[in-house]
This record gives sequence, structure tokens and C-alpha cells, in this order.
Amino acid sequence: MLIDTHVHSHFSADSGESMENIAEAAIRAGIGVLCFTDHIDYDFPLEGIYFDFNVDEYLAEIAGIRERYGGQVRILAGVELGMQPHLPKRYKALLDRYPLDYAIGSLHLVGEYDPYYPEAFAGRDAADVYRQYFEETLENVRVFEDFDSLGHLDYVTRYGESEKPFPSYQRFGDIIDEILRILIARGKALEINTAGYRKALRQPNPEPAILRRYRELGGELVTIGADAHTAKDLGTNCRRAMELLRELGFTAVTYYERHQPVMVGLD
Ligand SMILES: [Zn+2]
Ligand SMILES: [Zn+2]
Repeated sequence: MLIDTHVHSHFSADSGESMENIAEAAIRAGIGVLCFTDHIDYDFPLEGIYFDFNVDEYLAEIAGIRERYGGQVRILAGVELGMQPHLPKRYKALLDRYPLDYAIGSLHLVGEYDPYYPEAFAGRDAADVYRQYFEETLENVRVFEDFDSLGHLDYVTRYGESEKPFPSYQRFGDIIDEILRILIARGKALEINTAGYRKALRQPNPEPAILRRYRELGGELVTIGADAHTAKDLGTNCRRAMELLRELGFTAVTYYERHQPVMVGLD
């Protein structure tokens, strides 16, 4: 069964896609489980971008979509939370208040910069920026308890020198091991985000070496998402990600309902 648990609709500041189009694309692609995960990134330091939305309206719209398409695809309500070390309490209040199925914890910043923009790399070695991103991910994972899966762990390597895959684990394995150990000890999942396949990177985030290491350290919970911001990208390369997981020795893919893991066998 195909599963895509990372997708953005018009509730995200960087997507204009309707939930109808997404649900219909999911049915066409043969996706069995779809989880909306629109962006909430409190205190995002970029001028003019506001990653937040009315969660009541969001849940109401998802309920309508579920009513209409729920017989053909399982539709879940999640959120992608942008981590910063001062935010855990505010996100906990949000998750306590609303009956969401799933929360991805993601880091979209390096210091005050979004690495999507070239300024994040101005005058610096890309590898230094990458190291800072992993260090800040570790800092966030240490203080955040309330998320289900860590989103696109080596996201930063999509940018900077991203024409060729960057060997994140080889270079920063010490920091990455600490992140993975915390996830495993707390029963958190690791996401395999297939958007990297669509970009210059030509590999998922995180890179296979990091997924292999998560497994070696005892990690079993892996979520899959294409991180689509348009209906046409929905589910892209999710099958390929499942094949990669099988090669790496994983036996199941995980999705979440009311923050409880549901494991689906890979066979
Ligand atoms: Zn993200
Ligand atoms: Zn996303």
C-alpha cells in the first residue's frame, strides 16, 4: 500500500493547492493513506512569510474532504511544526488543544536564515552551514518532546552545493548519531522525505546512510512523505522509498493516527 504522510495544501503559506485536488490525485495514484501536514512555523524570522493558519478551519475542511473521499483513501490531519528551541511549550499547547493525528518536527532554519535562500551560504563554506544545521537539529531534538517523526533530517543539503549528494553521515556522523539515539530512545520516527529525488539532489532526505544507521541503532519507525506542495507531486517516489527501506532491512512503514504509530508491512 502506498502511503504519503507529508503534503501541503493552501493552508501553507508556500502552497496554493486545494485539498480536493490533492485527494483526487491521491486516488489516481493509488495512495491508501494520505495525511495533510500544513506548515506551522512560529516566529519564522523571514520578513513577509507567515507560516500559521486557523486550525479549526483546517480541521473542518479536512473533515469535509474525508466525507467526500474517505471511502477511497484514508485521510488524516497532521501538521509540520518548524522547530526552534524556544517553541516546545507553544507547540505542546497547540497539540493539546486540537485532535490532530500527526506532527512532523522539522528544522527549516540555519541560525536566522532559511537555507532555501542563497544568503544562508553567503561567504561561508557549505559544509560549515551543514554542520550548523545538524548541530541545531540536535539542540531542538533535545528539547522537543511533542512530535511524532523528525522531518527531512539532512534537508539543508538540498541547498548550497546540492548538484551532487553530500555525504552527511560520513562528515557529521557524531552529531547525527546523537540525534538518532535520542529519537530511538523516545520512540520517535524518522521521516524519509522523497522531495530530494525531484530536486538536484537525486536522493531522499535523509540520505540512505543515515537511514541505515537509524536501523543499526535499533530504529524501526519510518514515515514516508513526498512533501508535495502541488497535487502533481503527490506520492512521487514513495514507492522507490519503500524499496530503499526494504533494501536497508526495514520491514514496515509507519503512519500515525491520533499520534499512535500504525505499522504497515513492506511486503
Ligand atoms: Zn519541511
Ligand atoms: Zn513540508
